[in-house]
Amino acid sequence: MQRLDTVAGLREALRERRRRGERIAFVPTMGALHDGHLSLVDAARQAGDVVVMSVFVNPLQFGPGEDLSRYPRDLEGDAAKAAARGVDVLFIPSADVMYPGTRAVEVRPIALAERWEGGARPGHFAGVLTVVAKLFNLVQPDAAVFGQKDIQQATLVRALVRDLDFPVQLIVAPTVRDADGLALSSRNVYLAPDERARALALSRALHGMARDFAGGTDEAAALLATARDTLAGAGVTPEYLALAHPDTLDPVAVATRGTIAMVAARVGTTRLIDNVILGA
Ligand code: AMP
Repeated sequence: MQRLDTVAGLREALRERRRRGERIAFVPTMGALHDGHLSLVDAARQAGDVVVMSVFVNPLQFGPGEDLSRYPRDLEGDAAKAAARGVDVLFIPSADVMYPGTRAVEVRPIALAERWEGGARPGHFAGVLTVVAKLFNLVQPDAAVFGQKDIQQATLVRALVRDLDFPVQLIVAPTVRDADGLALSSRNVYLAPDERARALALSRALHGMARDFAGGTDEAAALLATARDTLAGAGVTPEYLALAHPDTLDPVAVATRGTIAMVAARVGTTRLIDNVILGA
């Protein structure tokens, strides 16, 4: 595995691969790698000849008071895991490499970001889209893999690719969960054991909605009421709990196959998100 931390080094390494006609598949991450991230590497391997992973904790996508300074970082562990899973090129730029000097331009969503994560985290998706656009220009991938875990992010990146004509095939890979259902997240390391137990209510509430939907309930109010009870039973108050249309992310009154059930909640001080697609 090549490990690179400069723009020139990355461009040079990939120019040679591209000249040989190799297809580049890209997995952007913020590191503290877990099996969810590594499953994206497997999907990238299917989609390309060269798998490029970036590890960059992007300051632009953290709001004031969020966890930027304490976000888990483990570069050596990440490099070992990436190499073992078959990453060919690991790009680990510093903030100065990604954002040298003054910035005058950013990529800001004009739709799809008012609600849910976008509503709870003002400016978050401008930070995400700006760094993804930069990474796409640096890596120039043929394909890029994102996780369903961050479904609003995947929706916005799809819009970025479409609206700004990035020649990138977007792949969205399923959420990897622990055996008990908790969606893997770098932020799970913040959870104390009792908090981790309460955090299970998120996936239980979502899977409960999927089960009720499969059983014939399609009224959003009814599905959401049961899910809210599940969360309340664990002492979890959601920031949002919603059934949304997969393309517009608008709330739906009646769920159909493909409707997204999603939740965000703070458990202790840790903010968690999760979603499932109904009828999937
Ligand atoms: P992050 O490092 O949190 O920015 O995540 C990097 C990529 O990994 C994003 O595309 C996430 O959606 C994806 N990801 C995070 N957690 C999971 C998971 N549990 N299963 C699948 N993909 C994930």
